[in-house]
Amino acid sequence: MSDHRYYIVTDEAGAGRALDLLSDVFEDEGVPIATMEVDETMGVWEASVYATDDPDDGLKARVADCLARDFPDVPIEIEIFGQTDWIAKSLEGLKPVRAGRFLVHGSHDRDAVRINDLAIELEAGQAFGTGHHGTTAGCLEMIEKVMRAAPGGPRGVNPVLDLGTGSGVLAIAAAKLGPVRVLATDIDPVATRVARDNVRSNNCSAQIECVTATGFHSTAFSHKGPFGLIIANILARPLMRMAPDIKRNLGSGGSVILSGILASQRRQVLAAFNGQGMRHIRTLWRNGWVTIHLK
Ligand code: SAH
Repeated sequence: MSDHRYYIVTDEAGAGRALDLLSDVFEDEGVPIATMEVDETMGVWEASVYATDDPDDGLKARVADCLARDFPDVPIEIEIFGQTDWIAKSLEGLKPVRAGRFLVHGSHDRDAVRINDLAIELEAGQAFGTGHHGTTAGCLEMIEKVMRAAPGGPRGVNPVLDLGTGSGVLAIAAAKLGPVRVLATDIDPVATRVARDNVRSNNCSAQIECVTATGFHSTAFSHKGPFGLIIANILARPLMRMAPDIKRNLGSGGSVILSGILASQRRQVLAAFNGQGMRHIRTLWRNGWVTIHLK
């Protein structure tokens, strides 16, 4: 038994199309599918199907069948790897997860932290967000890209809003990247409490305030905002409904990072935010989910 993936090399649009086709065939079987950008300047993308069975299991032929019509003459490539791939890891439960420079881990895995990591320590609690979900990992990667590229560096996005904070993982990530203040909110008081505990154990209490609020229904938003960066990993429908509120609470030139969106819902969500005068900057694709950066 070895872990391996079958993949094609394509462009961004091709990766989106391949993801749709592969999802139709393999999603119900629980076979992990992912697209990723491998060369940003050249616009090179890969669309992959991950497997742990023997490479001669017939999966390659099924992937080829699924893609044959839309990708004629594009070879199906194979990569074989050990247990270090993060997607494989993400399926294993509570192993440490790497996303960009971040390492999200439990207290039992402190040994996994390397010198240049931005480590976030979480216990598997009652709130969503251990880094194992494609949307959380996508947000972590995108937060790093956006905060590093901001004029003046990470402090250029101050203050930050993490809407639907869950475990607090994304708020903590933003605070670890630079001297920013973060408002972290959740509709669920249990999540807010778990987030507050995690903020404290990651030594970020001076930077992050956790508040229970449904959408934008709290005076905390007007007191702490407008925000230079709004992160919201919720779901496509509530995000589209909240587009006007998100825009209203965003400072001029500010960035929005959205996730919890299925690849098939991407265009609808973009349309809702384009309607607020915002434009698409970048999309990250992970296991059928997308993370979107808009300005
Ligand atoms: N930010 C975390 C958690 C995402 S899960 C991560 O990226 O891993 C989505 C969270 O949004 C849940 O904790 C849920 O309680 C919260 N949520 C859902 N709808 C919301 C709303 N309308 N307003 C605020 N929070 C909401």
